[in-house]
Amino acid sequence: MAKFEYAPAPESRAIVSIKESYGLFIGGEFVPGLDGRAFKTISPATEEVLAEVTEAGPADVDRAVSAARKAYEHTWSQLPGKERAKYLFRIARIVQEKARELAVLESLDNGKPIRESRDVDIPLVAAHFFYHAGWADKLEYAGYGPAPKPLGVAGQVIPWNFPLLMLAWKIAPALACGNTVVLKPAETTPLTALAFAEICQQADLPPGVVNIVTGAGETGRALVEHPGIDKVAFTGSTEVGKEIARACAPSRKKVTLELGGKAANVVFEDAPVDQAVEGIVNGIFFNQGHVCCAGSRLLVQESVYDEVLASLRRRLATLRLGDPLDKNTDVGAINSAAQLARIRELSEAGEAEGAQRWSPPCELPVKGFWFPPTVFTGVSQAHRIAREEIFGPVLSVLTFRTPAEAVEKANNTPYGLSAGVWTEKGSLILWMASRLRAGVVWANTFNKFDPASPFGGYKESGYGREGGRHGLEAYLDA
Ligand code: NAD
Repeated sequence: MAKFEYAPAPESRAIVSIKESYGLFIGGEFVPGLDGRAFKTISPATEEVLAEVTEAGPADVDRAVSAARKAYEHTWSQLPGKERAKYLFRIARIVQEKARELAVLESLDNGKPIRESRDVDIPLVAAHFFYHAGWADKLEYAGYGPAPKPLGVAGQVIPWNFPLLMLAWKIAPALACGNTVVLKPAETTPLTALAFAEICQQADLPPGVVNIVTGAGETGRALVEHPGIDKVAFTGSTEVGKEIARACAPSRKKVTLELGGKAANVVFEDAPVDQAVEGIVNGIFFNQGHVCCAGSRLLVQESVYDEVLASLRRRLATLRLGDPLDKNTDVGAINSAAQLARIRELSEAGEAEGAQRWSPPCELPVKGFWFPPTVFTGVSQAHRIAREEIFGPVLSVLTFRTPAEAVEKANNTPYGLSAGVWTEKGSLILWMASRLRAGVVWANTFNKFDPASPFGGYKESGYGREGGRHGLEAYLDA
């Protein structure tokens, strides 16, 4: 089926004003870094430099932790929950007011389609603040004792795939529970975190309650290893997560880790094929597959394999790849040259190991970092593309005959973040859900998120939960 010709429908970038350079957000103000180091953040779709950002060194991290400690002791932990809630509600409303601006900024810095930043990321950011604002004065009813106490200062490190949303997942529950924070955004996507710092100023949040330090892995390491923090919350790769767990093991710090995934999306023969295909596409091509819970391993029951694959190929031929700011774009840019190199390397390994590679006809822009939607068939469980997280728009397809075989294959991974089940039988959904070792199991849908629903992993996908009542535990002395 040919694509319709669509006229370009670009969202205007004039709505955002990006400064030439940004300082660190410490104690309620933007301040220069102590050793004057900086790095550039670019648009991955065009390689255009967007801004220069300060690289925080250990002394800067120390300043930020001191500011957070001061705010914790003198202000934030002294406020009754209903007063903290007012600030969180205010932040949520400002996020909504600035939704368009934040969506454009996110798509510019990250490369994700505006359709997703506008309709998924930013509304969920506001929803997380609203949801946790609601908890701030009701913590005694959360099931963690009659007078649950905050932990103190939280050091939070986040990745680049959902920059502002991961910030909201971290900051909203921490503040609701009475903690103060120092957060480090990923080095390729610092801009919406810095815009969030401006929102904190606009909301009159007491200085030091939120501090943002920009930088790369070394800044993250200085933060999580700082002796002045009480809690570490990390979202990122399993490799770095293990390092952090080792570094924090001898300390009293409470740690939660949200790490990688290699989710199975299981399609049974009685599933409605068109709906399942939409779910498969959403599962792996949403956000260019830069999703920890992406349905990167498709398990199809052998009897419907041909039908599902033919339908999937037809659907993929309709996806539009290109300018992230175009409202018709389905697939945007890969976030960085390094991530593109990793996706290429694993895809080449897939071919070398004997799987068959297919992509729809698709023209890639010349500048920027791009990778076409890709499907591998003839994949065996031993292949690297079936075992390792690719974190890109690449689907590995395997088959199964019986539900027991589907469970066996789905669980044959060191990860355990999410899974999907497609079938008309409610009993089969429950049977599968009780056997799949995954923190989230979606039934006849995929990649659905809600602040009221806890999210987190089993096995090497990490520990601790974010969201819902369960997520509060990570920020309470419970
Ligand atoms: P990454 O681990 O390389 O980086 C994540 C963050 O950690 C970045 O801010 C980075 O600067 C920082 N960092 C790097 N080294 C550090 C160190 N030694 N100490 C402290 N901080 C350090 O991961 P990435 O490539 O940016 O992100 C992709 C990974 O994140 C994928 O594996 C993905 O599955 C995972 N992820 C998980 C979830 C989840 O909720 N489980 C959500 C999104 C992404």
